[in-house]
Amino acid sequence: ALATGIVGLPNVGKSTLFNAITQAGAESANYPFCTIDPNVGVVDVPDKRLDKLAELIKPQRVVPTSFQFVDIAGLVKGASRGEGLGNKFLSHIREVDAIIHVVRCFEDENITHVAGKVDPAADIETITLELVLADLETVEKRLERVQKQKKSGDKAAAQEYDILARLQQALAEGKPARVVELDQEERKVIKSLNLLTMKNVLYAANVSEKDIANADENPYVQVVREIAAGEGAEVVPISAQVEAEIAELEGDERAMFLEELGLEQSGLDRLIGAAYKLLGLITYFTAGEKEVRAWTIREGTKAPQAAAVIHTDFERGFIRAEVTAYEDLIACGSQAMAREKGLLRLEGKDYVVQDGDIMTFRFNV
Ligand code: GDP
Repeated sequence: ALATGIVGLPNVGKSTLFNAITQAGAESANYPFCTIDPNVGVVDVPDKRLDKLAELIKPQRVVPTSFQFVDIAGLVKGASRGEGLGNKFLSHIREVDAIIHVVRCFEDENITHVAGKVDPAADIETITLELVLADLETVEKRLERVQKQKKSGDKAAAQEYDILARLQQALAEGKPARVVELDQEERKVIKSLNLLTMKNVLYAANVSEKDIANADENPYVQVVREIAAGEGAEVVPISAQVEAEIAELEGDERAMFLEELGLEQSGLDRLIGAAYKLLGLITYFTAGEKEVRAWTIREGTKAPQAAAVIHTDFERGFIRAEVTAYEDLIACGSQAMAREKGLLRLEGKDYVVQDGDIMTFRFNV
């Protein structure tokens, strides 16, 4: 399953945020595995289209799609040298598909800041540097090996050497690997290194309750935005503490509380949406009388592989898919009408599934 790791310095609000996530996820009974690992939280992906489809079809069951957050606490200065629980945490980061970096943007004299004062730029640099150093070590180790192969006339090794040298240069300057421009081919060559700073990052700027409605006026948030802009990364202002409170409320109460705070959507919902995008994920739907359900795939996935998300047999026996675009279905009011109007398409094994597609798979068992 796809997962996003939550990282950040101690005392920035990671656990608070993570608890809000698991609390929100605990309401959904669809994920029995979410209790297995205390560091893994599963959340539903909020999707208005799913609600709309459910309204239209009135199925017995509505199942949203979900994905995982992993709490990766314990990253401190010196982690790349094995300090703290250093290497263990770095290896956890290696396993996730994208990173949410929580940055402290709230002042509270009762809550110690590890570096003595709230300073988002320094915090980001500290964390990034640990990841960069870990990657530098990975790249240099690999360089040594490839250099030998290159000397013996291996062409592929020569190409890899080139790429590694470029990465090494950036990392040695303290820059994350993702700022190095690589084409698809080059990315493939170094994919197995699984570099930490190659993963997409989203900054969660943790602000206090009083700042959440106008988070962008907070000078700390502005600093985070500037840094993120330089890396092409996104920022989601959030108040971990408020989210923890929201997570304890139910439907109506939740809406009222959000309104009081001057928010349209909970920060958590925004964070989930942004993380979903960060991972390059899209949603397709299956819609029957029994169940209307959302499924997650990576952008660019073809129909048989999309079907495999439901069941591997669906991929193996794939014959074709019947597809209606979400907008078309809503406009027609029913699948029968969509069929009548010719808006239900038959697609084969090379069809690239689009966000919002409503799919019925035909397959041999
Ligand atoms: P972690 O070490 O990054 O996991 O940080 P925690 O989530 O444990 O938070 C550290 C402390 O900061 C806890 O006492 C939280 O209650 C507090 N905290 C977290 N978010 C906020 C916030 O937005 N405002 C304030 N004032 N305190 C917060």
